[in-house]
Amino acid sequence: YAKAGGGTRCAVFDGSMHRAAMARLGLETDLRGAVAREELTLYFQPIVSLETGNVVAAEALARWSHPIHGKVPPDKFITLAEDTGLIGALGTWVLDEATRQLAEWRKDVPQAARLEMNVNVSPWQLRDGELVETVAATLGEHGVPAAALKLELTESTLVEDAARAAGVLRALKKRDVQIYLDDFGTGYSSLSLLHRLPLDALKIDRSFVGGMDGGTTGAVKGAEIVRTILALARSLGVRVVAEGVETHEQLAALRALGCDYAQGYLISPPLPADEFETSFLRREPPYSWQTGHRFSEMV
Ligand code: C2E
Ligand code: MG
Ligand code: MG
Ligand code: MG
Repeated sequence: YAKAGGGTRCAVFDGSMHRAAMARLGLETDLRGAVAREELTLYFQPIVSLETGNVVAAEALARWSHPIHGKVPPDKFITLAEDTGLIGALGTWVLDEATRQLAEWRKDVPQAARLEMNVNVSPWQLRDGELVETVAATLGEHGVPAAALKLELTESTLVEDAARAAGVLRALKKRDVQIYLDDFGTGYSSLSLLHRLPLDALKIDRSFVGGMDGGTTGAVKGAEIVRTILALARSLGVRVVAEGVETHEQLAALRALGCDYAQGYLISPPLPADEFETSFLRREPPYSWQTGHRFSEMV
């Protein structure tokens, strides 16, 4: 692209590209050491059953606290890690740390004996050929049953190399690991692909959930899309998680439509492990929006 611009424009573009590259180089070097320096942590966001009101799972979300730049958002450093080949090591660390934490909670906290954990997996991890073994080894090491682990993949991950992806997912399913399709509705997966993949659940992208409120045309559309995804999920025999639930109205509408699970700021933002434990796992009775522990405490 730079060359097509010619002359001056080319030079300007090159200059900004250079700066971006330098900035990346700095961050890349820093990211390399981030795990060892314990700058990476996992936050946990609760996923509640809309049937019982209980917290049934946590989604592990990576956080990088940079010594100078402060909090670097995962959208940024995950992409950086993918572009620089660091995602393998980072993904393995996330998987290990999430599983370790799950094992600890299941063992130490009676209310968390059946807690499950959702872990995000990048396209690179699915391609590298070692995911199935890494997952199996990690579960074995921490003594967590495979059925308690859910791997979240996006549609684009699966569409890119559908045949290979389907093979990896089948191998994971054979070992009892659950597969969730993340940000559903934003990608381009075909109905035939969805039918071929051994999925356990779809996570409705928060853009559709956010469009459900109020009486505007947009809201009608949002609710219609959610209704359609729920019907599709039923025909596929998979469950549905609504992402990005921010209002009581959305939650009520999702319940009325028969959505299985909800996740979002209304319930809680992602929290550090100790806060997740005290807010959601150590409660008597276990945290539930049906038994008086209102979500509004946290909004
Ligand atoms: P995601 O997997 O779709 O995760 C959900 C994102 O939505 C999280 O952003 C979460 O904080 C945010 N969120 C949750 N509830 C609400 C809500 O009610 N409203 C709004 N506006 N946002 C909400 P986060 O933590 O910044 O992560 C962004 C993305 O980065 C994730 O999207 C995921 O794709 C990726 N990511 C995060 N951690 C990891 C990881 O360990 N490995 C990989 N491969 N990707 C990760
Ligand atoms: Mg996710
Ligand atoms: Mg998502
Ligand atoms: Mg996402």
